[in-house]
Order: sequence, then C-alpha cells, then structure tokens
Amino acid sequence: MILITNQGLPPGLKLKPKTGVLLPPVIIASPEPPIQETDLTEYFFSQALLNSNVRHKKVNIMGHYCRICGSTKPNEKFSGKGHRNHVCKECAKMPKEERDAIEQEVEIFGFLSQSNISKKNISRLNILASSPNEHISNLADIVIEVAKVKPHKKRRLKVLERERRDLLHKLRETGLIYAHHL
Ligand SMILES: [Zn+2]
Repeated sequence: MILITNQGLPPGLKLKPKTGVLLPPVIIASPEPPIQETDLTEYFFSQALLNSNVRHKKVNIMGHYCRICGSTKPNEKFSGKGHRNHVCKECAKMPKEERDAIEQEVEIFGFLSQSNISKKNISRLNILASSPNEHISNLADIVIEVAKVKPHKKRRLKVLERERRDLLHKLRETGLIYAHHL
C-alpha cells in the first residue's frame, strides 16, 4: 500500500490518487483585482450618457460654425434653418440690418486680405459703398480707394505709406489694416 500524500508538493502539483503518478500541473491564476462597483456604475453611466447624447446629436465633436459671431458651437445652438445658413440661434435673434452689417464688414475685410482686389470685387464694393449703413459705406469707400492705388496686396502698405498716408491712416483707424496681417 502506497501512502499518497500531496503534502510538501508545490502548489498546483498533485499526485494521482492510488498510483502516486505526478499529475500535470494546474495553473493557479492569481485572480484579477475585483472592479469596485462604484467604478463600474460611473463608467457605464458616463458611457450611456455619451452614447445617448451622440445619438440625439447633443454632442458634436466638430461643432458647427456660425458665420456671424464666428464661433463654433454645438449643433443644439442651431435651428434647422440656422444650420443651413450657418447662423446660430443667438445671432438669428439679431435684427437683420445688424446681421447684414456684420457680414458685410467681414466681406470687406476679406477683400483686403486677398492677394488681389478684382474688378468683380470692386463692383461689389460699389454696391456696399451705397449702403445706408454709414460704417459699411465708409469701409467700402476706403477699400475702393486702396484698390485704385494698389489692388495687389503685396507691398501695398509700403506703397500707401509712400503715396497715400491718408489712406494708410484710415486703414489703421478702422482696423482694416489687420487684414494685411492675415
Ligand atoms: Zn452666432
């Protein structure tokens, strides 16, 4: 009679009962540290919230650009029509004249920042120069004058400094000069 005992064997090793043959080792895996219930709850809750927000388009990683205030806002800040026009709900509340003036100012600023003010741009500037909005008509007049002296942006400020200091002064005064730093 063989006395079979597992005593003294390293953990995972056992002898086959009755025969005393060594059995293949059993891998004793150390258990994963249990995840705290609170962590899990928080994790699943945040995931569920994110998924639901993405599904309901409350979260847009890219956002949507408003061409009036120039900021990128989440989709919820735009109405259906606002989305198409790129005008956020807040800016849509503005009186139309005010909104138009902002857009026209951006447009005029854009002409100056281009490498060249084209003939087509000048005809548009002529329309803007007849705007009932004094600020807009003033800005358009200045840019028309600039285009007469130097339609190309390259070396424009230097040429104005030499030939039309008054115009250069107006560009500084109105802030239009910043179009040259873009
Ligand atoms: Zn806006």
